[in-house]
Amino acid sequence: MTSTTLQTPAAATGVRTMKQLINGEWAAASSGQTFDDINPYTGEVYARIPASGAADAKRAIEAAEKAFPAWAKVGARARQALFLKAADIVERRAEELVSIMAQETGASHAFGRFQVQWSVGLLRQAAGYPYLSGGEIVPSDTPGVFAMAIRRPLGVVAGISPWNGALALGLRTVVCPLACGNTVVLKPSEEAPICAGLVIGEILHEAGFPPGVVNVITHAPSEVGPISDQLFESRSVRAYNFTGSSATGSMLAARAGKHLKRIALELGGYNPMLVLHDADLEYSVDTAIFAAFFHQGQICMNTRKILVARPLFDDFLERFVARAKALKAGDPTNPATKIGPLINDDAVAKVKAGIAKAVAMGARIVAGGNADGRCFEPTVLVNVPANAPIYCEEVFGPVVLVEPFDDEQDAVQKANGSDYGLSASIMSRDAWRAITLGGQIQAGMVNVNGPTMGGEPQIPFGGVKDSGWARFGRWAIDIFSDLNLATVSEEKRKYPL
Ligand code: NAD
Repeated sequence: MTSTTLQTPAAATGVRTMKQLINGEWAAASSGQTFDDINPYTGEVYARIPASGAADAKRAIEAAEKAFPAWAKVGARARQALFLKAADIVERRAEELVSIMAQETGASHAFGRFQVQWSVGLLRQAAGYPYLSGGEIVPSDTPGVFAMAIRRPLGVVAGISPWNGALALGLRTVVCPLACGNTVVLKPSEEAPICAGLVIGEILHEAGFPPGVVNVITHAPSEVGPISDQLFESRSVRAYNFTGSSATGSMLAARAGKHLKRIALELGGYNPMLVLHDADLEYSVDTAIFAAFFHQGQICMNTRKILVARPLFDDFLERFVARAKALKAGDPTNPATKIGPLINDDAVAKVKAGIAKAVAMGARIVAGGNADGRCFEPTVLVNVPANAPIYCEEVFGPVVLVEPFDDEQDAVQKANGSDYGLSASIMSRDAWRAITLGGQIQAGMVNVNGPTMGGEPQIPFGGVKDSGWARFGRWAIDIFSDLNLATVSEEKRKYPL
């Protein structure tokens, strides 16, 4: 590890014992318990993490509640300065962050560098939000009445982050809520407690966010329950910012709904790519390789199904399969490695089971299909029957289906055939025809002549259907603030009573 700033200095064994951030202080779990954070490539213990429970969550919520009134009053310029400083810290720690992401989550250097750059952009974009979130004047029909729609922060927002794009998405769960004047409790995934939570706490703490404004609490695998109960039953937590699977999102939305609280949902995806008959074949293959296999297929926006116009199909498949077979998975700490390991053994088993079921139902593997430890070969399937689960469900690994189509409307129907609706891509030399066709695809994001995957921090990122409904970029200000009406009657009004 090249870290110079990650909390506790590593012991002789190289295994660090981390602390969590509550009320501006680094604290162990109140039980004193820790759990092992495993390096997915080596299988070794990477760090020891506080295994927190209800008492820790309660303290974090109380700290955030106490810090809220003062933070809500901090002026836009002072808030902006903190986000800009945090962006500088991410830049300064870039190399170290890439190394931590490789060791904790198996992210290649390319994906680690993407996340660093994206996080810097997110923080610098958010630095402008305090100036955007003021409100507006509403013309009143009542003589002498001056009406203002004023944006106000909500209070405490709980951020619940996933492990996959750990640094970028962990930051995304807290940055906009903070910029709107809320205080936060961040609960990172147990699979990436450092990248998706503790290191974010370090960065924001060093930037100077006041004590209690940012709190981070961690928990062991299978022990989220008591923390979840505190977050979802507390009256002080006013909203949730959730990124993760659709199953968890649905369950948490029901819990939030019970108390009539809002929850921003960024969920799973099953993202189609359409290669139309006039597409640039070589470029389509390049795009498909990146979109299907970047981060080992563990990104919500990875392409899961490629629909290719029949005249191009054989050529496309031959070139695509050759490129997929040439991609070798290996040690993500080696900057030359393009494909790292899957996050854990369960993920490997899930991918294997999805492929096996499809093959049993008649699908054919034309590339990959095997794993060496947690390193799964980039896998290409053809002839997958429409009733195989993998035909419309996210397996979250390096597996993609390729299928020919004769009729574009048929391709659109197939693209819409899953419950998800996150992103889609269309390859064609006729961009306007492609964007018109894209308008028929049920997805929050459609990219013409680009991958299903990507997204800059300032875009209205988000999905439809089971992929959730939140929109990030400046649109998230609407989610993480209230719009309150205030009126002033400048003259005495006349009443009917
Ligand atoms: P997950 O749903 O298993 O976990 C997400 C988070 O929810 C974790 O922090 C987890 O600890 C927490 N969680 C689980 N049960 C909980 C409970 N009862 N109470 C409170 N928190 C609970 O998802 P994951 O495996 O971490 O992430 C992968 C999934 O996320 C994929 O489906 C992927 O497509 C999706 N994802 C979506 C986006 C997006 O922006 N749309 C981005 C990244 C990942």
